[in-house]
Amino acid sequence: MKSNEPFLTPARTLDGTALAAGLRADVARRAQVLAARWRPPALAVLLVGDAQASAVYVRNKIRACEAAGVRSIHEHLPGATSQPALLARIAELNADPLVDGILVQLPLPPQIDPQQVIAAIAPDKDVDGFHVANAGALFTGAPRLMPCTPSGVMRMLDHTGVTLRGAEAVIVGASNIVGKPQAILLLHAGATVTICNSKTRDLAAHTRRADILVVAVGRAKMIGADMVKPGAVVIDVGMNRDEHGRLCGDVDTEAVRAVAGWITPVPGGVGPMTIAMLLENTLQAAQARAPVDATTR
Ligand code: NAP
Repeated sequence: MKSNEPFLTPARTLDGTALAAGLRADVARRAQVLAARWRPPALAVLLVGDAQASAVYVRNKIRACEAAGVRSIHEHLPGATSQPALLARIAELNADPLVDGILVQLPLPPQIDPQQVIAAIAPDKDVDGFHVANAGALFTGAPRLMPCTPSGVMRMLDHTGVTLRGAEAVIVGASNIVGKPQAILLLHAGATVTICNSKTRDLAAHTRRADILVVAVGRAKMIGADMVKPGAVVIDVGMNRDEHGRLCGDVDTEAVRAVAGWITPVPGGVGPMTIAMLLENTLQAAQARAPVDATTR
């Protein structure tokens, strides 16, 4: 039964690893059908430079592709790559009929403007969903390729069974890749949405009203138990290192667990869902390019 009633027991864990495994298995099944009828979906992943965190993200994405039967084309370009050289490579991949999706790992070295790079990717291959055409489609309610993290969060919310229609949703963080698209998706789902940013005057006054609280700032454990409404669904997008060097989110998970109804762990929450949605987007982009009789749901 759908309900927004507060929970009187400690929060239930929204296990992103398990949910993502189910989504990835479904992508693998559909990718196999597409491969048998046409060819496997193919994703080009471009990494510029040697940033360690980016290399780990790229490796995880490539592994997930391989496990799901999505062909990955991994290109590691030198850190000194010029913007024209990167844009020229993107133009080639745009024109390549054997490539369905293009992902350029962010952040980029300082000589390259990420906005120019995002704008250069063909919208129908923009599996990150960052291109202004895809952002605009999302904004106007006819989404095509959607940003992976917010759409993964929506799948997690769906799993809770909590009613979004009429719910108070508060998003902390207003970036183009997480906070803003998250707000639009929740708005389209019928929630009443508040977006907070670094200038918000009394953050806790907003977060305490939230039936659905999504935090995407990048500040370790900034959301404590006193900032959460009893029974709320708390989605922690943040990825930080704590004082011991351990991975942690923006939410003080152990403290908030005593108050919230549902909570996502870090790691093992939103992160795996983001990768699963990248695979979904790649499959969707491939299906849009395939002959009609080769596609499957
Ligand atoms: P970002 O571009 O740096 O944006 C951060 C946002 O937080 C900005 O809108 C900023 O406000 C706001 N903010 C900063 N301090 C604040 C405060 N004290 N109170 C309220 N809002 C505040 O970050 P992002 O790319 O969205 O990423 C956010 C976090 O999510 C990072 O930890 C990142 O690593 C993580 N992330 C995780 C995944 C995943 O798959 N799990 C995916 C993407 C990002 P202003 O607009 O006023 O500057």
